[in-house]
Amino acid sequence: MTAPVVAVATDEGRPDFGPDDVDALADDLLAILGPRGVTSLPRALDRAARDGSGMSPILSAQDLGTPDLVCYPRTADVVPDIVRAAVARGVPITTRGKGTGNYGQVIPRFGGLVLDMTSLTEIQSVTERSVTAQAGARMINLEQAAWGRDSQLWMYPSTVQSTLGGFLGGGSAGTGTIVHGRNHQGFVDALDVVYATQDAEIVHLDGDDAQPFVHTYGVAGIIVSASVRVEPLQQWRCVYASFGSQREAFDAAFDLAAIEPKPRLLSADGAVVTAALPDDPALVRGRASVRGIVDARALDEATDLLVASGGRIEAVREGIAETVKLSTLSYNHPTWWLQKAQPGRWFHMEVRGDALVHRLEEVEQVYEGGMLHLEVGHQMMFGMLNGIYRNPAQVIDGVAALEELGVGVHSPHQWYVDLDADRVHALAQRTDPRGLLNPGRWM
Ligand SMILES: Cc1cc2nc3c(=O)[nH]c(=O)nc-3n(C[C@H](O)[C@H](O)[C@H](O)COP(=O)(O)OP(=O)(O)OC[C@H]3O[C@@H](n4cnc5c(N)ncnc54)[C@H](O)[C@@H]3O)c2cc1C
Repeated sequence: MTAPVVAVATDEGRPDFGPDDVDALADDLLAILGPRGVTSLPRALDRAARDGSGMSPILSAQDLGTPDLVCYPRTADVVPDIVRAAVARGVPITTRGKGTGNYGQVIPRFGGLVLDMTSLTEIQSVTERSVTAQAGARMINLEQAAWGRDSQLWMYPSTVQSTLGGFLGGGSAGTGTIVHGRNHQGFVDALDVVYATQDAEIVHLDGDDAQPFVHTYGVAGIIVSASVRVEPLQQWRCVYASFGSQREAFDAAFDLAAIEPKPRLLSADGAVVTAALPDDPALVRGRASVRGIVDARALDEATDLLVASGGRIEAVREGIAETVKLSTLSYNHPTWWLQKAQPGRWFHMEVRGDALVHRLEEVEQVYEGGMLHLEVGHQMMFGMLNGIYRNPAQVIDGVAALEELGVGVHSPHQWYVDLDADRVHALAQRTDPRGLLNPGRWM
């Protein structure tokens, strides 16, 4: 199955449930969680119907769903009770972390129950190999806990306040990806998962058994806790360089990707996107920008390369607060800031391949006003191509032109399971036989 470039809301996959089932479930949840553990107040329902899909003008224009109930487990052991009750009533369950997923994949397409995991924040252990925490723990808190033990996470997203369960359920990459790839490529050591069956319990999965649940939007199981990989802490330096031209900046980022030890993060933007980022003397107005989290052992080589490529070193900073800050200027965030600076004007496409650098000018010409944000990914260039939004047809039309240039495209304007969808579908048929977990995610 290949996801369409643009998704249009239909009734495909709607479970058969009604208001009586919801009322009965509300009573069940009241008994399980008490009056503060479940709500149908409009403000809570409205909040649980939003996520980062506001970045897509195509998704924003559609009604993607509103829950009937939201519940807030405070201990992990009640999650199976909640699931058994929802399964018995035939009510769909959409699991929610911080709600920053940007494909609308946490918005309950057909209503039902939203299971808000943000109260389950316990960090249970940090060993030399992994950190183990409940699904609602924030990624920034895991990174801080790891630093406290002279370790660092293999990776974390630019949305550092997002949850462990949400990053594993809906995210894919971030700071650390240059070395370790995406989050379904060995980042997870073990998971505690709950399936949507009548006898739901917490199931512990190790190693290869856990991987199939990553990046599946919660359609195959609810992650209650997870162990994710850490490694010995490196001495990081945050390097900010400015350039007179975007071409020089992108070429420099491309070359910098080859230094050893590898950088933890490398991002580049032209002058317009750089100007939309938060005020910082190291982000010089009117100039392109390269930002990198670089190993201290490679700092001299990195700064020499940047200067030789036409760059000016604006700042070199260190410490966890600085590395996290630089991370929040990466991946989707430059697009987010650009959209904030000029609301309603921009859309973006996720793009990949060396052509992003080698054929930059042609890539940017595909969409009106085209401006590329560049990330160095795992053994490839990656980025967000921003364009002025006119209509869905214009967004779709650009894909063929990008592919002709040798650019791989992933559309952020659709909400379907997009990683090995056939495999995930087969898994979900076993773990969620009634199709109640986050339904509506199959194309
Ligand atoms: C400005 C911006 C920047 C971003 N940058 C990045 C980035 O650098 N890298 C990246 O990978 N993503 C990025 N994203 C996407 C998103 O922020 C991340 O994937 C984030 O880690 C999701 O976490 P969350 O807690 O907000 O999850 P949510 O949005 O709440 O959920 C995401 C998905 O996971 C499912 N889910 C949530 N919790 C669980 C659970 N416990 N068990 C099973 N399924 C669950 C949800 O149902 C949903 O389908 C960005 C988004 C925005 C808006």
